[in-house]
Amino acid sequence: MQTEIQPIQNINNANHSQNIPLDNMETVVSGIRPTGNLHLGNYFGAVTNFVKMQDDYNCLFFIADWHSLTTHPKPEDIRKSAYTILAEYLACGLDPEKSTIYIQSDVKEVLELYLYLNMNAYLGELERVTSFKEKARKQPDNVNAGLLTYPTLMAADILIHKAIKVPVGKDQEQNMEMARKFARRFNNIYGVEYFPEPQSYSLAGKGIKIPGLDGSGKMGKSEGNCIYLIDDAATIRKKVMKAVTDSGPTEPNSQKPEVIQNLFTLLEVASTPDTYKYFDEKWNDCSIRYGDLKKQLAEDIVNKIAPIREKIVEYSSNTALLKRIAEEGAEKARISAAKTLSEVQKIIGFTNI
Ligand code: ATP
Ligand code: MG
Repeated sequence: MQTEIQPIQNINNANHSQNIPLDNMETVVSGIRPTGNLHLGNYFGAVTNFVKMQDDYNCLFFIADWHSLTTHPKPEDIRKSAYTILAEYLACGLDPEKSTIYIQSDVKEVLELYLYLNMNAYLGELERVTSFKEKARKQPDNVNAGLLTYPTLMAADILIHKAIKVPVGKDQEQNMEMARKFARRFNNIYGVEYFPEPQSYSLAGKGIKIPGLDGSGKMGKSEGNCIYLIDDAATIRKKVMKAVTDSGPTEPNSQKPEVIQNLFTLLEVASTPDTYKYFDEKWNDCSIRYGDLKKQLAEDIVNKIAPIREKIVEYSSNTALLKRIAEEGAEKARISAAKTLSEVQKIIGFTNI
């Protein structure tokens, strides 16, 4: 067996030592679940980074339809939902000429790696993952094994392409830690330097968490507290004006309570630095009027989103194009996945005697 796996170790030692694949571009992978339309959290937390990374990295972006079954076991039309995200990806600026864009369930190789990783993933550590505990609390009648092993499927999504950078929002930090742990563990168990340890990545230099408009928690497709990229101007204005606030600051330079900090977080991503500074000063000298802040914020969001919204409408109506892009993306993703899988099979020992 030793002679069988030797060449793989050599190839990867040569190239893994600098964490750079053979074509000299680092590999980037990320995905989004087709559990609803994309919202500001997905956009600022993930997709803006996807778009900016396309020129400098070997990028693969997918639509995580298997992951969606952990919380949405009976989707109305899982394929159509995937195409919704695909149209929104394209509208945001993902370019199939630059990135490999595919639907997770089109790349079955991921499942075999998921199985191998699950063999070395332990119940205790999976049960301790915060998002598992939260989801288990939210859907006590459906604490399924897919929910428990979400981090191993996510690790398989990333490791199947030996990705090094993973642009995700702050809510994915613990899952990313698990992915690194599973990569390390695989290398240790089989005595190889095979999988690189993938790192979360944000061009802003910090993980982003866009809050919901209901005053608590993150904006999330399954939370019903979102501003969607597909929302029209009137809807956005209405949602922003309804955002929770308080009775205002009583002392100069006081700390902002969570609901107000949430509005400032949105200002930080959607408005100009000058606008942010203006309202921050108003907060600090206690002259802030939340109505003014919300009006400005709503207009800034409308202006940011309007061109994307137009393109979403355009792409959504072109099913033939979406189908072609998904098929071509799947083909490219399968080549990359099959290479890793065959190397993994050899490392474990699944070779002909
Ligand atoms: P669901 O509620 O169905 O889980 P979601 O809105 O959380 O949907 P995901 O598909 O789970 O979206 O996540 C897609 C990407 O968007 C991930 O990289 C995640 O970190 C990022 N993301 C999701 N919500 C936010 C948010 N509120 N702020 C920043 N990033 C976010
Ligand atoms: Mg989520």
